[in-house]
Amino acid sequence: MQHMDDRRPDRQTSKENTADKKPAREIQWSFDRNFQGWTCSQCEWNYPVPTLLNDPEAKNAYDRLASAKFREHKCADHPTRMTGVGPESFTSRIRKMVAHGYKPKDAVDLVVQEVAIEYPNQPKILDQARAEGEDFLRRLRAGLI
Ligand SMILES: [Zn+2]
Repeated sequence: MQHMDDRRPDRQTSKENTADKKPAREIQWSFDRNFQGWTCSQCEWNYPVPTLLNDPEAKNAYDRLASAKFREHKCADHPTRMTGVGPESFTSRIRKMVAHGYKPKDAVDLVVQEVAIEYPNQPKILDQARAEGEDFLRRLRAGLI
């Protein structure tokens, strides 16, 4: 008897189910002094955020485009990512907490609180964490993540 449980949902466009299956690669938000935007966890593919993107609708459009480009790219066409994407972004911390069962809003609040403790006199970093939290909730509302 042939089992059909080996089918891989390569073309699946619906909400991805990451609960029971670890994806080979992940789109990751990252930022540092020189770069802010989406990156691939496996290769050097990236999609920098345009400067002065303030309108939420424009941000949603950018995120949508980035996620489409991410799905299309082939890791083999880009250099392998040798190291991590730098310091873990606040977005990925929030995502991890949500993956562990926190409500998105609570996860954002907790990460912002943690950041306030970790970086006591660095309001810029705290602003960044808040901004990433807002972006995270916006993406969630827009159905982007
Ligand atoms: Zn890649």
